[in-house]
Amino acid sequence: MIVIMRQRATDTQVNNVIARVEQRGCRVHLSEGEERVIIGVVGNGRPIDPVQFERMSGVERAVPVLRPFKLASREFHPQNTVVRINGVAVGGSEVVVMAGPCAVENRAQILDAARAVKAAGAKVLRGGAFKPRTSPYSFQGLGTEGLKLLAVAREETGLPVVTEVIAPEMVPLVSTYADILQIGARNMQNYTLLHAVGEAQRPVLLKRGMMSTMEELLMAAEYILSHGNDHVILCERGIRTFEPYTRNTIDINAVPLLKLLTHLPVIVDPSHGTGKRELVAPVSKAAIAAGADGLIIEVHPHPEEAMSDGAQSLEPTQFAELMESLHPVAEAVGRTL
Ligand code: PEP
Ligand code: MN
Repeated sequence: MIVIMRQRATDTQVNNVIARVEQRGCRVHLSEGEERVIIGVVGNGRPIDPVQFERMSGVERAVPVLRPFKLASREFHPQNTVVRINGVAVGGSEVVVMAGPCAVENRAQILDAARAVKAAGAKVLRGGAFKPRTSPYSFQGLGTEGLKLLAVAREETGLPVVTEVIAPEMVPLVSTYADILQIGARNMQNYTLLHAVGEAQRPVLLKRGMMSTMEELLMAAEYILSHGNDHVILCERGIRTFEPYTRNTIDINAVPLLKLLTHLPVIVDPSHGTGKRELVAPVSKAAIAAGADGLIIEVHPHPEEAMSDGAQSLEPTQFAELMESLHPVAEAVGRTL
């Protein structure tokens, strides 16, 4: 249930509602908007009668949230959430582009990639240090060494870093190097991992599982939010369909649908979503036109030598051209880049 306070409700009135919620054995999630305070009541399964709250002074309305995701829902938090990372705001009027290689491979590769994506206008550097690979014989990432190289690239370029964490016990280690913790598609429903990043002091980039519904994605976000971390960015990265020409099929519907259902920022990954370099630019434009708050794009200094995902990685010059071509699209939908 959510309790919507009147516009000029006093602190005492808000505190009285909070006290009553806690007396009922429920938890409070406060959302202090510009105009009014909304108190989210997260129950313990037992029904709560909205009328008892509506009678309290300062309360305008108390409404049950019927959707299974509560904290992630637009009803609970009508304004867009803006996730801030060292001066970069995801979910505001600017479309934020994150870019870099699939995996950190060596010092020269990550530094070259970081310099190139920064020069082209990317605001966040991506790069996997721990790679969840389909085959145990494929390159698994440089591990801690990869995290250290990301930190060197951040130091040099000033770009914050997003990198994947694949196990709950690794959250403290990855958090010491990463500015954003990435949960990969294969781990979207790893609930102990979601719990662990929910307790971390870092924003989270939550990628949609390749077979997951919107509701499953939002329930995964709910795990993170309900453990105390409000800084969650959702990512549409394509789902599996019957189409073999592309690696995945970008679900463009997901963008406007998520924007209706949730206040959390939504970005799109056209690299994993298509698997083909030639499709990255047009799909990036489509994502921005559909209302995405950002993009995450794979860029490699020498894609033909990449240890993973070379076929979908852009060369630095292609990335720079793409960035140029995105400006008019962003402008057409009232955004900046
Ligand atoms: C990645 O972004 O490096 C990645 C592995 O993507 P996904 O989890 O979407 O497959
Ligand atoms: Mn990849």
